[in-house]
Amino acid sequence: MASGIDLEALGELGLIDTLRRRAGEPGGAWIRAIGDDAAVLRPRPGTDLIWTVDALVEDVHFRWQTTDARSLGHKALLVNLSDLNAMGAKPLGFLLTLALPGDSEPERVDGFLRGLLAEARSSGCPLVGGDTVSAPIWSLSVSAVGAVPRGRALCRTGARPGDRIMVTGTLGGAALGLELLEAGRATRAEARRYARRHLRPRPPLGAGPLLARAGLATAAVDLSDGLARDLSHVLRESGVGAEIRLESLPLPRGFRGLCGELGLDAESLAVAGGEDYELLFTVPARAPQASVLAKRLGCRLTEVGFVGRGRGLRFSRRGEQVRGEFSSYEHFKTRGKRSEQ
Ligand code: ADP
Ligand code: MG
Repeated sequence: MASGIDLEALGELGLIDTLRRRAGEPGGAWIRAIGDDAAVLRPRPGTDLIWTVDALVEDVHFRWQTTDARSLGHKALLVNLSDLNAMGAKPLGFLLTLALPGDSEPERVDGFLRGLLAEARSSGCPLVGGDTVSAPIWSLSVSAVGAVPRGRALCRTGARPGDRIMVTGTLGGAALGLELLEAGRATRAEARRYARRHLRPRPPLGAGPLLARAGLATAAVDLSDGLARDLSHVLRESGVGAEIRLESLPLPRGFRGLCGELGLDAESLAVAGGEDYELLFTVPARAPQASVLAKRLGCRLTEVGFVGRGRGLRFSRRGEQVRGEFSSYEHFKTRGKRSEQ
């Protein structure tokens, strides 16, 4: 297989042919895919379709100094799979808008497609179409569609006072990884592990559809912008408040030590650091314990707080209220408060 894709030699049509050949026929619910004016999907009766899109723009979402092309390919699809998972949907397929310079390094284009299509295969989410344009910088947009049994989608609207708040996996690792990459310190094996969390997130794919089918969760969201911000979305949509117990937050092993070495506050990274792509969901008070649910979902699970009547998000540490100022990134905003509480 060629190790590079030279866009100036191939042109748009040549690139689309390459994509079509490498992606293969999607089969399954897809009647038509790459090669027609649009793709044709025949959903199973009794399903709701879930549809999402996410963009990755050079120098906004990623920088070539800190990202390799293959990881970028994986991530472009993973961030969409994470959204589908958070809605309780199983992926069906995706569209790809590829905007990139004609003089892009052939190895980069090839690496990106390899990462993307490897992820597509391993997650059972085929590439079914897209658009290809030349642009001054790399800009990638993936739009994925998935299915959930009718009426079972996990929405942000259903959290109720008394519900308990669960998160999968650990928090803050991806944000620490980004800090290490930006500082040029992702060299030791331990640091590289964190860098990898940022470059190739591992959302708990499959847990969302299991939750949806079991009808266990009242609300769910994936943690792309940090727990404080993403949970705040759930609270606003559900019209409730919540308390997070900071001492309960699941941190990766060795995380505090490495944060300390870098002068970073471990708790702030866990609360406000983005891109862990873990799943946060709420369950009624009478639902099984986290350890029991963890077995059913096949992933680590921690209870970190509860939903209450008031509005907004509060933090406590061993029973004492804590005033939190946890800022997270927001596009466009240059003035005013950037913090979410
Ligand atoms: P149109 O001019 O009708 O929009 P295009 O020339 O853009 O058609 O695309 C031709 C076919 O190739 C379509 O089936 C489209 O979905 C597919 N395609 C174009 N770009 C991509 C891409 N980046 N990834 C996957 N399929 C693509
Ligand atoms: Mg087109």
